Amino acid sequence: MRLRVSSGSAAALGLLDIRRGAEVRTAYVMIGEGECAFACSFCPQGTSSRASHDLLSRVTWPEYPEGVLLDALEGAEGDAAPRRLCLQVLGGPAGLESARAFLGRYRARGGRLPVSVNAALFDPESAEALFDAGCDRLGLAMDAAPPALFRRHKLDRPGAFAGRRELLETLARAHPGRISTHFIAGLGETEEEMVDAVHRALAAGVTVGLFAFTPVRGTPLVDHPPPDLSGYRRLQLARYLMSEGRAVPGDFSFRGGRIVAVGTRFSRDDLARAIRTSGCPDCNRPYYNERPGEIPYNYPRPPGNGAIDAALRALELPGAADLVAGEVSSRG
Ligand code: SF4
Repeated sequence: MRLRVSSGSAAALGLLDIRRGAEVRTAYVMIGEGECAFACSFCPQGTSSRASHDLLSRVTWPEYPEGVLLDALEGAEGDAAPRRLCLQVLGGPAGLESARAFLGRYRARGGRLPVSVNAALFDPESAEALFDAGCDRLGLAMDAAPPALFRRHKLDRPGAFAGRRELLETLARAHPGRISTHFIAGLGETEEEMVDAVHRALAAGVTVGLFAFTPVRGTPLVDHPPPDLSGYRRLQLARYLMSEGRAVPGDFSFRGGRIVAVGTRFSRDDLARAIRTSGCPDCNRPYYNERPGEIPYNYPRPPGNGAIDAALRALELPGAADLVAGEVSSRG
């Protein structure tokens, strides 16, 4: 079987000789036979895309024989070695079967990394088969917050949104602490809609990975703008405070769907943690949503003081600017 590996992961595994601007804490592998069966409008792998098939988001994923990848994973050691393996499974039954089989071979060879599998599942049995094959965490992406955007950008089938959310919550009850989902900010939702969707997932025990919409050439959304950083920072803060159990949607004040105040105290350190990449442990996805040199939407490592100050200003929330000067708590 041939697999695609994100270029940063390939470099971290010694498969690709490129300069890495950030540590890669998770090795990302795309797996599946042929094309994806679905047509997510933002995705280069979708059936509605004419983009290059070596892309996922803006990242290039070169192809390697399975044996070469397994050898590299086996040989990876030291501080720069990935601490997790994430399988991004192309939609369709063939993809799920490929992932299950690859997992089995990886474990049979003594592979010990924790493995996340992000796949389009439609039934609990498929999830159980992946857990039985050796995955540690399952990701079932919602991607779009409100149902209307889910229908427009992911699956326009009656009951698809409710069905996916129900399966996500069922799996979270069956496998506490081992289920993740993704939400993409910037597909047309309001901050309020995203806060509600993220909170519902968190309240069900699902880990939330927040992504920023990234326009990719060849996809139907190539001309759709990425989210503004200010709104994205507010969503990151909201996700973080809610994931810590320190806020619920009622603690946020909205005007026109935009967060205008936060009724929970937060500190510089809180924001420094909030603007880091969210998702499974050690998932840091460097440059997944922006080019090297651009201000990261998700920081793949702890941000410096300058970055924290910039993020505080970007929040445009009452009291946030007070934190720029030093370590004082502020009521939003
Ligand atoms: S949160 Fe990260 S590691 Fe987890 S499934 Fe998503 S991309 Fe993979």
